[in-house]
Amino acid sequence: MSLPLDVSTGLFIDGAFRAASTGEEFAVINPATGDVLANVANGSLADAQAAVEAAANAQADWANKMPRERGEILRKAFELMISKEQELAELITLENGKALPDSIAEVRYAAEFFRWFSEEGVRNLGSLSTAPSSGAKILVHHKPAGVAILVTPWNFPAAMGTRKIAPALAAGCTCVLKPAAETPLTMLALAQILQDAGVPKGVVNILPSQHSGEVVAKMLSDPRSRVISFTGSTQVGRILLQEASKWVTNPRMELGGNAPFLVFDDADIDSAVEGAMIAKMRNMGEACTAANRFYVHEKVYKEFSTKFALKMGELKVGNGLDLGVAVGPLINAKTRDKVAFFVDDSVAKGARILVGGRRGDDEKGYFYLPTVLVDVPNDAKCLSDEIFGPVAPICSFSDEKEVITAANATEYGLAAYVFTRDLKRGLRISEQLEYGMVGLNRGVMSDPAAPFGGVKQSGLGREGAHEGLMEFLETQYISTDW
Ligand code: NAP
Ligand code: MG
Repeated sequence: MSLPLDVSTGLFIDGAFRAASTGEEFAVINPATGDVLANVANGSLADAQAAVEAAANAQADWANKMPRERGEILRKAFELMISKEQELAELITLENGKALPDSIAEVRYAAEFFRWFSEEGVRNLGSLSTAPSSGAKILVHHKPAGVAILVTPWNFPAAMGTRKIAPALAAGCTCVLKPAAETPLTMLALAQILQDAGVPKGVVNILPSQHSGEVVAKMLSDPRSRVISFTGSTQVGRILLQEASKWVTNPRMELGGNAPFLVFDDADIDSAVEGAMIAKMRNMGEACTAANRFYVHEKVYKEFSTKFALKMGELKVGNGLDLGVAVGPLINAKTRDKVAFFVDDSVAKGARILVGGRRGDDEKGYFYLPTVLVDVPNDAKCLSDEIFGPVAPICSFSDEKEVITAANATEYGLAAYVFTRDLKRGLRISEQLEYGMVGLNRGVMSDPAAPFGGVKQSGLGREGAHEGLMEFLETQYISTDW
């Protein structure tokens, strides 16, 4: 099968693509067909060491470049990405499965991080103040943190990478990125784009590997690795936090979520349904911000559920490259089976299926139909666990306090959604939600210009906005007088 872009399948270390030191490779599968798309070099411990070495060697020169020069390289990377939008989108669809419109949206979103941080990197502001008692001058400035280890998931193969690479580079850090084993091709295509944009050798290294645990541990056992920025499951995040403790490496964690979606009786129901469609179905539900549980006021429960189910039933499921398809396959059989389990568990406990509720007809791909469940009991597993698929469980409520308590009753705290026409109420409720991000009358909040991140077991730190740049800087304070 030919790929839409000429993608090298080697490891990208010190500015060159090469085979793994062991000669090992692993297969990348198209989840829509089960076909092998490519065989990619399987990074070893020696390769991980070499990648950190390359990044460490490139660190000083990159940090010493003028911020404007780094910014212009990032700007160029933005432009190159946009010029290859269609090919990159097809590549994402091939290895991840998401429908082409979702992939195009991802490429644009991913490229925006390069543009945003090309602008933000020239605004590394410090401060000068006078100590109130001694009169000493307090000079505060921010320096590149050093080599950054970046680990990303398969659900946004481009954006989860650019969201880390762009601020790291803007701040003056070099990096090694380990993409998810399911989706390494997009990042390898981006390695070429970054090189074409003028990123010097060693500044960005890409290390595909199926030995994820070992290679990342190896890189964190090197004291020159100063930042570990991870996006993925809370379970793996905990392991990395422990590994980071060895050399007190700065941890940045974007972990799992369990987003509640609240619809009040005064909401504009059509706009709530529209928001629900995006919050649930962007990326087939494979998003950490995906609406995981719907709480709808009893007065509008029937109307909302009926309209939502109607729209969900209209979505065309199939190979993401085919025209008109809105919902592609899930990433692998395990994910699809887990989604099926959540539906079966809910139904066994008394929930009703309004639409969907079963696998797709295509036997080869990992398809599951868009599903709406109503009358979902409190003990259904899908309410407490991350579904990560196209299933929307809907519960009803009657009281504001009660629904806030239910929304906060989770160890996660990434994203929440609130729909009401009463802005005062909307803001009051948003403030009480223990979440890093709230979509108030909006079904999507991801934006390179906004601080993305969670509280509780959804993570540490923020990506995007000025906060995203600060994640790759260390603050130094110089005490002086004159
Ligand atoms: P995952 O299993 O945690 O994997 C994420 C990345 O970590 C992959 O590159 C994976 O490599 C690697 N990894 C696995 N075990 C590791 C270990 N012991 N040490 C170091 N790296 C390791 O998560 P996933 O299943 O791919 O992604 C889904 C999860 O990510 C969900 O929980 C979702 O909520 C979360 N997520 C969060 C955000 C956010 O911004 N908060 C965004 C997207 C996704 P392999 O591919 O080789 O396993
Ligand atoms: Mg995994």
